[in-house]
Amino acid sequence: VAPSSTTNGFRDFLLKPELLRAISDLGFEHPSEVQQECIPQSILGMDVVCQAKSGMGKTAVFVLATLQQIEPVDGEVSVLVLCHTRELAYQIRNEYARFTKYMPDVRTGVIYGGTPVAENQAMLKDKTKCPHIIVGTPGRMNALVRDKSLKVSGVKHFVIDECDKILEQVDMRRDVQDIFRATPHHKQVMMFSATLAKEVRPTCKKFMQNPLEIYVDDETKLTLHGLQQHYVRLEESTKNRKLNDLLDSLEFNQVIIFVKSISRANELDKLLRECNFPSICIHGGLAQEERIKRYQQFKNFEKRILVATDIFGRGIDVERVNVSISYDTPTDADSYLHRVGRAGRFGTKGLAIMFVSSDEDAEVLKQIQSRFEVAVPELPETIDSSSY
Ligand code: ADP
Ligand code: MG
Repeated sequence: VAPSSTTNGFRDFLLKPELLRAISDLGFEHPSEVQQECIPQSILGMDVVCQAKSGMGKTAVFVLATLQQIEPVDGEVSVLVLCHTRELAYQIRNEYARFTKYMPDVRTGVIYGGTPVAENQAMLKDKTKCPHIIVGTPGRMNALVRDKSLKVSGVKHFVIDECDKILEQVDMRRDVQDIFRATPHHKQVMMFSATLAKEVRPTCKKFMQNPLEIYVDDETKLTLHGLQQHYVRLEESTKNRKLNDLLDSLEFNQVIIFVKSISRANELDKLLRECNFPSICIHGGLAQEERIKRYQQFKNFEKRILVATDIFGRGIDVERVNVSISYDTPTDADSYLHRVGRAGRFGTKGLAIMFVSSDEDAEVLKQIQSRFEVAVPELPETIDSSSY
């Protein structure tokens, strides 16, 4: 089929030809619902606060909106994108790289902590290297704004991904506010998340003027329909045995196993490797270079099992992940929703399994079922592999 018809839905947005070509190369055929709702107004510069379920393509909304509007000037940063983890910043920057394939004049860069600040400073100082679009985490970004290496007086678009997470954490919120205040008053502001509780919305809107507001007030609509969800009731001491059985019997492409601490991530990963499972782990205790390296290995399908803390619970998009296991229960229903959303991206099938070993765990399970009106039944003896 010719690109003209395959990109039909995207054509209706009247995007630049170089963006349409990139979209066609990526194999995107139709805009998702959230893209339909947000792209037409966001490309006109309107402020946007947008809640839409996991894996539905929120990234492309702000990437396309900013690329459609950008007029790159060398030495000037015109787009800032903030997010809560370094791996997500790295991922979003790669997304910009894919969409700017035919926009050779647009430079994008990523900035986050745990790396030499001198490298950031060198990149920002050189007019021929300074990115027009910068994706980063709040701490490092603010440090660079404060020491004047990052000049934000030309910023025209300000994006916060996983905005509820960023705004609920006091230190991150403060950094974001500082950066925000250093940018010009007149700019486009866009914020995104799969979870936007009513309490956080006024905080979001304080950064905006007459935003387009897209919310999912009926939380039951946040359920991913391609996703099968189950729990396993067990004793803490039998978790490893059960996990071993599951990894043997399930037909997973890639699986993410969530645990609650760095030490548990290290230990479980070690155990799995000793049993010859192709496992790696990722958590905040690793050197930053190593974190990105492991993220890449997993994304490139060099490893099929990832043991992770909640730093990997949100935003991360790895297409082949079809199973997510909460070895340790998530702290609340929101973080459950984000974790299970790592499988079943863009409406694909997936399987989520949660281990329940205490009364508190059972309570979280109960909350999940009632808030999202989703049945999370006990994992059956056998499960048809074609269903995930
Ligand atoms: P969200 O941020 O809403 O959780 P992402 O932006 O990470 O979702 O997108 C999830 C996946 O869907 C990504 O791999 C992305 O490339 C893909 N995707 C986004 N939009 C489309 C589309 N219109 N058609 C096909 N795939 C898409
Ligand atoms: Mg996202």
